[in-house]
Amino acid sequence: MIIVMELGATQDKVEHVTRLLREMGMREHVIVGTERTVVAALGDERKLDVGRMENVPGVEKVMPVLAPYKMASRETQRERSNIPLGGSLGGSAGGKKVAVIAGPCSVEDRSQLLEIAHAVKEAGATALRGGAFKPRTSPYAFQGLGEKGLEILAEAREKTGLAVVTEVMSIDQVALVGKYADVFQVGARNMQNYNLLWAVGEQRKPVLLKRGLSATLEEFLLAAEYVMSRGNSQVILCERGIRTFENYCRNTLPLAIVPEVHRVSHLPIVVDPSQGTGHAHLVPDMCRAAVAAGADGLIIECHNDPEHALTDGAQSITPTTLKNLMVTLKRIAAAIDRDA
Ligand code: PEP
Ligand code: MN
Repeated sequence: MIIVMELGATQDKVEHVTRLLREMGMREHVIVGTERTVVAALGDERKLDVGRMENVPGVEKVMPVLAPYKMASRETQRERSNIPLGGSLGGSAGGKKVAVIAGPCSVEDRSQLLEIAHAVKEAGATALRGGAFKPRTSPYAFQGLGEKGLEILAEAREKTGLAVVTEVMSIDQVALVGKYADVFQVGARNMQNYNLLWAVGEQRKPVLLKRGLSATLEEFLLAAEYVMSRGNSQVILCERGIRTFENYCRNTLPLAIVPEVHRVSHLPIVVDPSQGTGHAHLVPDMCRAAVAAGADGLIIECHNDPEHALTDGAQSITPTTLKNLMVTLKRIAAAIDRDA
């Protein structure tokens, strides 16, 4: 952290700053310039309270040097994390191959899910998505099948080998969801549910962490840090679109986050163009754009009968569309030295 003193700050004030730094377990390196004095704080600045320093008399501004997240940072780990998804097909997020996770928004019944699972596998997906616990905007809307839905997902894994990605909404669901799922999905609405993040951090299965509707990248990575700080380093970030003033789509899907995450973090990032756009006709192009931008995976809502889907039919593509999409994804992936 760099502490810039005000013009003409007295020696007393500089000494006060250095005393405070030492109290906080840091050391200082004072640079006396011709116009002003700058104090470089040496040590783990994440333990420092920037706000407290800014209020100290004689301090003009405080500039952190390190990212506030540590375990998620590329400063801590240079090489990219490659996180196995589970299932018997051997897919992962963060390797050369772009992970394609596809399936319905929610598990509706056994025949629906099994049919879709076989179709997405045939199209080339590595994992199956499907919510058994659904975070719905309205309390009167379909809330998911709960444990019955998890049982159906597990049966689909057994029959297809696809890894199962499914949402956990609260701490009391962690053990139950963990019994059936290969990957815990933490939804956008729960990105800042810190107790839930800690609870999945105690687990030893990957966590697909969705970006909050209005979370900054820094807040997103700090949420990942919550999970990692409890010993679970298998975090897969998921960009699912953010809330903006724009209304031609359900959310705005900011794909620049993909290369930016790769610059500042070693964690894989997957993109969800279904929640990200809200419209099935926009999904294939945004999938292609996400892969071109370097995404480590896609999570796509795919339904055999979108018109009758209980949730998110408008943004669900059909298995046929997925199959055709996969053909072009492979070509795009090859162009950037990846596979799909
Ligand atoms: C979903 O994946 O169906 C979902 C509810 O996602 P999000 O948490 O991103 O809204
Ligand atoms: Mn959905």
